[in-house]
Amino acid sequence: MTSLDDLLNEPKFVTAINCMDGRVQLPVINWLKEQCEADYVDMITEPGPDKLVAERNPDKLPSIKERVKISVEKHGSKVVALVAHGDCAGNPVSEDEHYGQLRRGMECLRGWDLDVDIVGLWISDKDWKVEQFAVITRD
Ligand SMILES: [Zn+2]
Repeated sequence: MTSLDDLLNEPKFVTAINCMDGRVQLPVINWLKEQCEADYVDMITEPGPDKLVAERNPDKLPSIKERVKISVEKHGSKVVALVAHGDCAGNPVSEDEHYGQLRRGMECLRGWDLDVDIVGLWISDKDWKVEQFAVITRD
């Protein structure tokens, strides 16, 4: 049996579906650790993940979903973040298009019926600061 002490000391994981771009790794980790009081961020990286998830890319989505589920089911993550950023080599579209992809991508994630909050994050290539774009809280 798990004691209360074990539960309280259990490390808190959250999940990020992030771009592979090296410039957005630490900003996303630091933002999620601060905002969600997380100890660890399980990082799932692809080039231009907002586009892949929004378009439900048949080659990439199953692998992304499998990794998200490991983070949620084995690490107990209660937050899944989807990240889009400016100057994205894997998804070189306008800022407005990124926003649309974030919205559609978050809807796709909601459809997976996981017991998690879904957070959309935008990172401008002007200052590489993380902005919360939208949240869908679990109900
Ligand atoms: Zn990118």
